[in-house]
Amino acid sequence: MTKGWTKSAWRAKPRVQMPDYPDQAALQAVEAKLSKYPPLVFAGEARRLKKHLALAGEGKAFLLQGGDCAESFAEFSADNIRDTFRVMLQMAVVLTYAAKVPVIKVGRMAGQFAKPRSAPTEVVGGVELPSYKGDIINGFEPTPEARIPDPKRMLQAYTQAAASLNLLRAFSTGGFADIHRVHSWTLGFAEHDKAERYREMANRISDALDFMNAAGVNSDTAHELSRVDFYTSHEALLLEYEEALCRVDSITGQPVAGSGHMIWIGDRTRQPDGAHVEFCRGVLNPIGLKCGPSTTAEDLKVLMAKLNPENEPGRLTLIARFGAGKVGDHLPRLIRTVREEGANVVWSCDPMHGNTIKAASGYKTRPFDSVLREVREFFAIHKAEGTIPGGVHFEMTGQDVTECTGGLRAVSDENLADRYHTACDPRLNASQSLELAFLVAEELSS
Ligand code: PEP
Ligand code: MN
Repeated sequence: MTKGWTKSAWRAKPRVQMPDYPDQAALQAVEAKLSKYPPLVFAGEARRLKKHLALAGEGKAFLLQGGDCAESFAEFSADNIRDTFRVMLQMAVVLTYAAKVPVIKVGRMAGQFAKPRSAPTEVVGGVELPSYKGDIINGFEPTPEARIPDPKRMLQAYTQAAASLNLLRAFSTGGFADIHRVHSWTLGFAEHDKAERYREMANRISDALDFMNAAGVNSDTAHELSRVDFYTSHEALLLEYEEALCRVDSITGQPVAGSGHMIWIGDRTRQPDGAHVEFCRGVLNPIGLKCGPSTTAEDLKVLMAKLNPENEPGRLTLIARFGAGKVGDHLPRLIRTVREEGANVVWSCDPMHGNTIKAASGYKTRPFDSVLREVREFFAIHKAEGTIPGGVHFEMTGQDVTECTGGLRAVSDENLADRYHTACDPRLNASQSLELAFLVAEELSS
């Protein structure tokens, strides 16, 4: 148990990016209700993820974290969950095949509802409105009423997260993710070069499985190959929700965030003395920390000491998000800080959030080339520094959306309007995600 920590201690700290609920009584009623609901994840699962992440820190596993920028109530469907899960399985196959290490699969799913925003208001259709903060806080609809923070949304988010997790658990262990089905995960994809490469890889995997089968693989191994571990994660932004789902692990007596396996602290909420760091430091889950261009060495030192005082491997993942062309300006100094402190961390690369631009059409987009470039820079710097690139963090979907420009089936600025469905930031579509996985695979095996 972290000394002097309670699940509500964050309330005494400065908070940013959180809503001011106009109806405090309604808020308290929701918190009381949620506090009695079952946790969505269990402490043993969070501890197991931490063990896997410890291996990623040593280069003996690799973290693949991905999913929506913001999950939404409107886009909630079994098909959407299945499609994102399926692309992540495909990406994991590509990465495992190349890197020859297990891939730790973590969805930005089943809880990724609350969004930090760069400004408190935004102009929609010429009207200035309070910014949309994610479906767990207010409504996307561009009206002043919809934008009022409503605590009851937390209950719907909980319900959606629970149903999503239920489905993800079924997909993970109920046969869908059986490696023998490696070919079937391609279904639903339009034909393109990377799909062909995937098929070739799948053929080789099938051959290897046939061989193992003929050679008399034992039933334990067969069982292992028929299922995957799939974990959930989200930004721990809405601390009332996080606190209400915080539980005590019956085995270790430690508090655990019951809202998702891994939670992270965003680039806008990582103030060392702020509320978000205060909450996260006390729960046993693996913690992610976004590191952007404004992350100073001094802040990182303090944050590492606060978030991982025991220097436990797998506890802390540093998610670098600097922007293409800027990785060299920032990553080396942070790597140096980590080295000086002798800190155990997993280095992960988020090539999305430093590469958001506004297209001429007005859409927020990310050029796929910038995404690729940031990934390459991340790997090159780790190579030069002799440190370990432990994972990647993507905003992506299994849907054929047109939100990021570029890729093999080139999405142009003009195409953005075709299928722009994100409730917040632009995501890679299924084809771009797979293409990116091949690039990462090349980096990992070179
Ligand atoms: C995000 O991951 O959606 C996000 C807002 O990231 P960051 O905190 O790195 O800007
Ligand atoms: Mn985002």
